[in-house]
This record gives sequence, structure tokens and C-alpha cells, in this order.
Amino acid sequence: MFLEHLYLQHFRNYIQQEINFTSNKIILLGDNAQGKSNILEAVEILSTLKSHRSTKDIELVYQDRLYGQIKASVKNKYADYDLAITIPAKGKKELKINQEKVNRHIDFLGILNTVTFSSLDIELVRGSPEYRRSWVDSLLIQLEPIYYQLLKNYNHILKQRNALLKQMKKSGISTIEQVPELKAIELKLWDNKLAEEGSRISRRRARVLKKIEPLAKFWHNQISHKTEKLILNYAPNVPWKKDTPTDVQNAIKSEIEQKKIAEINLGNTLVGPHRDEIEFIINSSLARNYGSQGQQRTLVLALKLAELQLIEQVVGQPPLLLLDDVMAELDLKRQAQLLDSLGDRFQTIITTTHLNYFETDLLNQAQIVKVEAGK
Ligand code: ATP
Ligand code: MG
Repeated sequence: MFLEHLYLQHFRNYIQQEINFTSNKIILLGDNAQGKSNILEAVEILSTLKSHRSTKDIELVYQDRLYGQIKASVKNKYADYDLAITIPAKGKKELKINQEKVNRHIDFLGILNTVTFSSLDIELVRGSPEYRRSWVDSLLIQLEPIYYQLLKNYNHILKQRNALLKQMKKSGISTIEQVPELKAIELKLWDNKLAEEGSRISRRRARVLKKIEPLAKFWHNQISHKTEKLILNYAPNVPWKKDTPTDVQNAIKSEIEQKKIAEINLGNTLVGPHRDEIEFIINSSLARNYGSQGQQRTLVLALKLAELQLIEQVVGQPPLLLLDDVMAELDLKRQAQLLDSLGDRFQTIITTTHLNYFETDLLNQAQIVKVEAGK
């Protein structure tokens, strides 16, 4: 995949800007707060329709403008595409492929694949479970765009169910007997939907983790030059015995029955994939709690390289690699490892404040784009 051209209008700190990409190694060079990461963010949104930095679209739109725009020309193995996303400060994103309106978000996904590796990604190992879930979710969206819809369905159910639980809490219900019949029926309906959609999410996440595990192991041993035993384990909030839809759904349903009164008391759903955990285990210890800083960094790099490789294998073409500020973060050995293992296959966009992080070879072949105050 190759990004040829990017156009930003009223996006973050860009009023209006075009960039032509002429190389498969691009370095965005500039001081802090000039707009380097904003460019990577725009590319990431073209690929996954979300940003790992922001959850609110309004933050993406320049100051108090009504909407922002990202446009791009992308070449992949099959064709050339013109992509366009209009982001209103309030409301739904509007998508176009080759000037034609796309109604379903999932039809937009899969044209451009990206892997982002930023200095914040250390949170993947050190941070809360939410980071790890969101990492697996973004990966799944790229591998099977239908997952975008599944996730949306699940989040909708969760929201509705939480609203109902809050309502019950507010009306002073504290035992199952106090739940009015109609409300009980309504809640049961959401319980079943949650179990059904939740099992889809959990099972897919567990499966993709199994797929990426051997790749992560390979890279982990390459980088650490040791044979440490790395395990990626999906730890669902409700353990299941067999990985079948019925088994997982039943496990969720029976846990809901046990926790129901606690859920009503809290006004919140306690059971389901929004509470699942992903464990990275090195030599039988959780990397999150026991890993040294170096071990944690090695692990993140291994996970990212594995992600790149898995997307390439499944999609059948190399995704773009977006490296945000990682050069300063990695020691020279890991840096060389990263760039060497990439070869020339992946178009790579790197942000940096200084060029002296890079080897001359890379500087000679890279397109260097200076970024200053949104220009
Ligand atoms: P660093 O090297 O520190 O990571 P950077 O060049 O990557 O810096 P970005 O994160 O790309 O910086 O851009 C940050 C700038 O964008 C900040 O000055 C911020 O105020 C500005 N900015 C972010 N969102 C908006 C917005 N919606 N409207 C206008 N400006 C914005
Ligand atoms: Mg930045």
C-alpha cells in the first residue's frame, strides 16, 4: 500500500495543507507542537476511522470550525483510490471513495491499512486493560472490517443496558423481587443480546491473539537475543470451557444471573468483553507487573512487528507503518533492529524533532517533510 497524497482542511492545527508523498520512507521533521503527530493521526483515521488519541470528533476539527476534512490518494495492490472523510464537529462522519458517497463505515475499511507505533504504546504493557483491548480491537477492524460493526453493536447494547440499570437503581430497586415484571423482561432481552454479541467479540479477540502469538514470540526472541518464553493470553471476564458460541454465551448469561443485583446496585454492566483482559506473560510472570523497562519496551516492539506481519499475511499486502516519536524512545540497537526488519516493503512515516536519530542510509533515501505551525 502506498499513500501518494494527503490533503487536510480544518483538521487539528491545519487550515489547509497538501502533501505529496514521493518515497516509501518519509520523515516528518519539526519542533514540538507543530503538527507532526496530527498528520499521522489523519492517516490513521483514513485506515480505521478512529484515532487512538481522541474519542471526540470535535477535537479533530480546527478550532471552532463546523467540520474538518481529510482526503487522500492511495494505491494498493488492486487499484488506486481517492478517499475523503468529512468530520463534522457534531454528527456522523461522511465518507467518500472515488467521489462516491459510502453509506456503511465498513465499506470504507480495508483500503488503507496502518500500524501505528508511538511512544505512548508502552501503555500497551504498563497501562490499563482498556489499552490492550483497544489494541486488539483496532487490529481486528483491519483484519476483518465486519468487526467494526460488531463492536458498534456491542457498545450500543452496553449503553442501553447500562441506561436501564441506572434507571432501576434510581427508582430504588435493591432486590430482584422489586424489579417490575416489564422491566425484568426488558432487562432479560438486553442480557441475551449482550451475551450473543459479547461472545462474538470475545471469541474473535481470543482467536486473533492466538494468531499473533507465534509472530510476537519470534520477534521477541530476535530482539532480546534470548529464548524467553512469551505467552499472549486472552483472559475473559467470564471464563469459558469451550470456544463455541453457545458455550461462551451460556457462560456470560449465567454470570449475569449471579451479578445482576450488584449490577442494579451499581447501575452498570459488570459482565462482558468490555471487562476482558489480555495478558502478556514473560517466563511465567505478567510483563505488566514484573517486566523491567527494557523487557517491556522489547515486548511492545515485538508486538508491533508482529502486528505488521499479521496484517500483511492476512490482507495480502504490506500496511503503512506510522512511527510517532519512537526513535527517541528506542535505544540504537532496537532502532536498527526495527528499521532492518522492515526492509523496503512498508511505506513508513516517521515523526521526529531531530535528524541525528537516524542513520545516513535512511536519510539518503527518505523524503524529509518540514512541519512548522500547521504548515
Ligand atoms: P510533538 O513533537 O510534541 O509530539 P507534534 O508536532 O507531534 O509535537 P501535534 O500533536 O501534531 O504536535 O500538534 C499539536 C498542535 O496541534 C498543538 O499546538 C495543538 O494545540 C494543536 N491542535 C490540536 N488540536 C487542535 C484543534 N482542534 N484545533 C487547532 N489546533 C489544534
Ligand atoms: Mg507528536
